[in-house]
Amino acid sequence: MNHLMNTYSRFQIVLEHGKGTLVWDREGKLYLDFAAGIAVNILGHSHPIVLKALKDQAKKLIHCSNLYWNEPQMKLATILSENSIGGKVFFANSGTEANEAAIKLARKYGRRISPEKYRILSAKDSFHGRTYGSLSATGQEKYQRDFTPLVNGFDYFEFNNIDSLRLKISKEVCAVIVEPIQGESGIQVATKTFLQEVRKLCDEFDALLIFDEVQSGMGRTGKLFAFDHYGVKPDVLTLAKGLGGGIPIGAVIASERADVFEPGDHGSTFGGNPLACSVGIAVMESLLTEGFLERVQELGNSLKKGLQEVKKRYQEKVKDIRGIGLMIGIELNNISAKDFAERCVQNGLLVAVAGNNTIRLLPPLTVKKSQMKEAIQVIRKTLEEF
Ligand SMILES: *Cc1c(COP(=O)(O)O)cnc(C)c1O
Repeated sequence: MNHLMNTYSRFQIVLEHGKGTLVWDREGKLYLDFAAGIAVNILGHSHPIVLKALKDQAKKLIHCSNLYWNEPQMKLATILSENSIGGKVFFANSGTEANEAAIKLARKYGRRISPEKYRILSAKDSFHGRTYGSLSATGQEKYQRDFTPLVNGFDYFEFNNIDSLRLKISKEVCAVIVEPIQGESGIQVATKTFLQEVRKLCDEFDALLIFDEVQSGMGRTGKLFAFDHYGVKPDVLTLAKGLGGGIPIGAVIASERADVFEPGDHGSTFGGNPLACSVGIAVMESLLTEGFLERVQELGNSLKKGLQEVKKRYQEKVKDIRGIGLMIGIELNNISAKDFAERCVQNGLLVAVAGNNTIRLLPPLTVKKSQMKEAIQVIRKTLEEF
């Protein structure tokens, strides 16, 4: 008898162990893992660097609460700040919690200017998480419908449509939150002019610009953060997924201007615990190793090229290939993404679904070139079956 709540429509396999980009189920069947725990296992499964960080830190101190300082937390904050937007870091345990912190930060920032400055704008089709603040920012009816009333003061603009944002923004807006690449809704990539104009509007109305890089960050796009492709810096950056290489951790980074929390404003029992932060340090140091991100770019380019060829061959079934680096969406034509993903799993390839008709490929950043070729082969084979 299954005692788990019915919150996920799961693939009917039970995963047991993994190594690199490979993972095995309970029956011993082998899969190529191109979902990577939804962009989480960025160094692959059981990476020695992750294991070492965990083992070394677990022997010393696993948890100590934020009543005290701990060195891994301080060190990871420094690495993150110095390699992103400067400023200060708050640690949480997940993406939604990182966004909750960002939302509270924005509200406090606004409150210091005017009691009416509390509105927060986010994009339609965005995804920011499942807790009430983040859910209120998530511009998708299907996630919100059964859970109203939501938090007050949220409104939505159209992604990649600056006029739509211009119509909504006002002096009462304290923050605009955007994913530079929308993940859950099908790998929708922001245009450069759009993000540049969003930045300008935020400056004009003294609103904080929050980039939710929970999925697009941590080297996924071949740069440390997706915003590095755009030359547009946010005031607040939220991270999670890949940051702990599989261990739960989230972070919000606030530039000097946005760093308005004072003691008592926010907190977390587990956030910033030494175990998670030690792995975070190991992951960040790996990404910053010379040549690592360049390799991700190369792999991403060749994966995209390979898929473009597949698209040419199966024009009537594949509508679009999009994305940057190792964050690639395959939009299908008249094929249910869920059905397609099920068949991929049967054929030995784990992929993630995004929206109704898009397959997401988010392999570990350590994926081998030969494994990418194999994955493309499985996708071809699966396309043949539809
Ligand atoms: C996954 C995701 C979240 C939520 O993260 P959780 O760790 O599941 O709470 C938020 N924003 C984006 C862009 C995400 O992809």
